[in-house]
Amino acid sequence: MLSQGTYAIYLRKSREDIESEKYGEGETLARHEKILTNLAEKRNLTIGKIYREVVSGETISERKEMQKLLKDVENEKWTGILVVEVERLARGDTSDQGRVSKAFKYSHTKIITPVKTYDPDNEFDEEYFEFGLFMSRREYKTINRRLQRGREISASEGKFVGNIAPFGYDRVKLKDAKGYSLKINENEASIVKEIFRLYAFENATINSVAKQLNKLNLKPRIAKEWSISSVKDILSNPTYIGKIVWNRRKQNKKTKNGHLIITRPRNQDYLIYEGLHKPVIDIKTWKLVRDKRKQNTPKVGHSNTIQNPLVGLVFCEKCGKPMQRRPYTKADKPATLICSNQKCNNISSKLYIVENKIIEALKIWLENYKVDYEKLQDRSKTDNSNMIERSITSTKKELEKENEKLDKIYDFLENGVYSKDEFINRSKIIKENIQSLEKKLTEYQNLLAKNEEMQIQKEVIIPKLENVIDLYGKLENAEDKNILLKSIIAKVTYLKTEKAIKKDLDPSNFELHIYPKIPKT
Ligand SMILES: [Zn+2]
Repeated sequence: MLSQGTYAIYLRKSREDIESEKYGEGETLARHEKILTNLAEKRNLTIGKIYREVVSGETISERKEMQKLLKDVENEKWTGILVVEVERLARGDTSDQGRVSKAFKYSHTKIITPVKTYDPDNEFDEEYFEFGLFMSRREYKTINRRLQRGREISASEGKFVGNIAPFGYDRVKLKDAKGYSLKINENEASIVKEIFRLYAFENATINSVAKQLNKLNLKPRIAKEWSISSVKDILSNPTYIGKIVWNRRKQNKKTKNGHLIITRPRNQDYLIYEGLHKPVIDIKTWKLVRDKRKQNTPKVGHSNTIQNPLVGLVFCEKCGKPMQRRPYTKADKPATLICSNQKCNNISSKLYIVENKIIEALKIWLENYKVDYEKLQDRSKTDNSNMIERSITSTKKELEKENEKLDKIYDFLENGVYSKDEFINRSKIIKENIQSLEKKLTEYQNLLAKNEEMQIQKEVIIPKLENVIDLYGKLENAEDKNILLKSIIAKVTYLKTEKAIKKDLDPSNFELHIYPKIPKT
């Protein structure tokens, strides 16, 4: 919301407008006036005056209204000027442009167009300086250098210096200092968390993360769908652990065939500062993701090949340390699985026996799950999701009603039924209602999305299990086997208290606890 104060509208026909009017485009000034008064209404701006340039002229000396406007701007009469586009203010002559630019800059007057608000008090509003008509090239370059320096200092203070907040955050003005910081945008942040969770804990690949998000209809801010690169960007952005990154992507400007081409290649030696904003992701998860990403970048050579299909999966029941594969130095003897803690007295087993037991357990698990699932299926659909859907429908209806009310009171104001004060009071209450309803709605929608995700997980777990069991024996590579197991098992604990020295003793007299990756029902 923009600050209070009084604003003015400036209307002027361009040469193109005059041309199109000849072809029946209608009266330009009236059309523009409507656009801008609507804009003012939408943003609660009070309009103190409308400057209507009847005679069209390109230079200021030809434009009577422009001269009045400039004088008023210089006298700081207006908080901002509304125009359909900035070019309506000045075009052509450079000295004219300079005059307009200075008048606005020194009087701190905003320029408001339907597309963007240009704010001379925001030192990082590059576009304010960039909007072409205003500056000579040299002036622009100097300002740009100053901007860059100012930005770097701000970044080092933990402020956010970009124009667009990263997904998961909103850009907010700092209360006690110049500049901006980031505020968590709960809706988007929940998606960011989900991306990290899927990648760090659900053994998902970047590609499958993108697919799952799209399947759940969790949308990025602008693009229609998540892509590998947009997911990658999120996973590697230190903003989410509360950092501010400076110079990660430097702009390179080149001209090619007469066109300006701007590229933003990744910069290896960017700077990282402690940000003023709150993190969305905890350090532990961040590190997990970073390590996993390092692993997944293709390696050269085979020195690191995994030989233990149970690596990272089986832990000692006694001391909690990971169980390790120990190969026999003598040939032909099978490897054993042993606790990595030398002081621990948990007894080792042959690795392949543990492996077989796990697969056996999965088979039993599958059978049980199938039975449970059939029982569950009828119940869960009727329960939760339906209830949430009902809440969404009723909230939407309420929202519609409130919006209708808002339309009505605008009519009341126009027809003089309401005084201005009555109108302001009424509209304030209604707008607050709308806000809280909208908040409710997004909460319900998030809940529904979560519910549906659970449903999907439940539906895929059976084919997933069948697939693992079927595939496991066919795989030769320990690493592939490991990935397969990790897709459905979070962890296994192992305990063996009796040595099987005698021949008649069962070599599988150990206990396994398997912790599946299954959604809770
Ligand atoms: Zn142990």
